[in-house]
Amino acid sequence: MRVSKLFTKTLRDAPADEVAKNAQLLIRAGFVYKEMAGVYAYLPLGIRVVEKIKQIVREEMNAIDSNELIMTGLQRREVWEKTGRWSDETVDVWFKTKLQDDTELGLGWSHEEPIVEMMKQYVKSYKDLPVSLYQFQTKMRNELRAKSGIMRGREFVMKDMYSFHATSEDLAAYYDKTIEAYKRVYDRLGIGEDTYVTFASGGAFTKFSHEFQTVCDAGEDVIYLHRDKNIAINEEVIDDAVRELGISRDELEQVKTAETGNIFNFGSQKTDEMGLYYTGEDGKQQSLFIGSYGIGITRAMGVIAEKFSDDKGLVWPEAVAPYAVYLVSIGTKGSEEADRVYEELTNAGIEVLYDDRNERPGTKFADAELMGIPKRLTISDRGIESGEYELTVRSTGETKLVAPADLIDVLR
Ligand code: ATP
Ligand code: MG
Repeated sequence: MRVSKLFTKTLRDAPADEVAKNAQLLIRAGFVYKEMAGVYAYLPLGIRVVEKIKQIVREEMNAIDSNELIMTGLQRREVWEKTGRWSDETVDVWFKTKLQDDTELGLGWSHEEPIVEMMKQYVKSYKDLPVSLYQFQTKMRNELRAKSGIMRGREFVMKDMYSFHATSEDLAAYYDKTIEAYKRVYDRLGIGEDTYVTFASGGAFTKFSHEFQTVCDAGEDVIYLHRDKNIAINEEVIDDAVRELGISRDELEQVKTAETGNIFNFGSQKTDEMGLYYTGEDGKQQSLFIGSYGIGITRAMGVIAEKFSDDKGLVWPEAVAPYAVYLVSIGTKGSEEADRVYEELTNAGIEVLYDDRNERPGTKFADAELMGIPKRLTISDRGIESGEYELTVRSTGETKLVAPADLIDVLR
């Protein structure tokens, strides 16, 4: 991509009404556009980050045999009425609308009930189980507060996965497998070390859940950490946990976190309520067990932006960066050489954002830093004379000289 072809421009200032650091930086760098509070458009640079995060999640969900699909955004009232969750008293984030004949519809804030309903058509016998499905989708939630930038959207991208099992043991095994898959996701996203799995109660006896809480000053949650014992406890269950583990509250460190993932074991409660059963080997109708597993894709992007940034701008980890290299040309000869290098690197499969604009070096450097591209490659008239390019690492600020012949190896 050439910067001269990007329609976005970097901004010196974020909109005055934007209070979240993640959104301020992402808006200034041209990754997102603020439509209104809690509602953001993803621009060319922004969608590359979203897609990178999605691809990591996709690979890990495929690795545990889940099938990708896309459910619908428009949902039926009757489906949610079966579990009592159509009511605005039970679910306070509904956006609802109507067909021209006045039939009420909901805009998907979750897909648990619709997917259970859908599976009545596909799961009949024990032979059809287990099965796991997932999607990436824009969820609509009428959130009360939307002051956390893309970390809390009224419209946001979630990966939601649902698994269906013949026995609670089979569900438990898959649930544990998913926890491991999630850990791999957070590791690959560069936030593994700061992400803790916490237990949360789910209300009814057979129901429980785990949250994936990522340490982040801008997060809206709090967890309690025992770093030596590697224990992380959710605020909601702190009193019970302290009693059960026989530890004192003083031993625990209170940290702010963002919930980047949440998984639920529903047992057979929801499937029983909705009438999804299967026929066992003995020909008898049996209860079916399900789990539900979410990852906030755009929230994760916001958390990464918060955690990996400095006074100059964003500092993307390589795995999710929109481009690997920001190529800066300086001078006439520098530009000719940079044109050639751009082709060469692109052909070698290296993702390059090429600042081919007729701007001062300082302007180009500042944009490279604001956008947070991991490496900056500078090709100048002076460098060509000495036979060296300049390579600067965004996270450390370290600069080294690279001979043209070594360039691809060094970048790889
Ligand atoms: P929260 O308590 O933060 O509102 P939740 O418990 O409602 O989250 P889930 O319904 O379990 O969240 O959704 C799964 C994941 O989707 C969450 O773990 C979070 O990462 C993400 N998520 C939830 N709500 C939002 C939102 N408004 N904006 C962005 N991401 C969200
Ligand atoms: Mg919520």
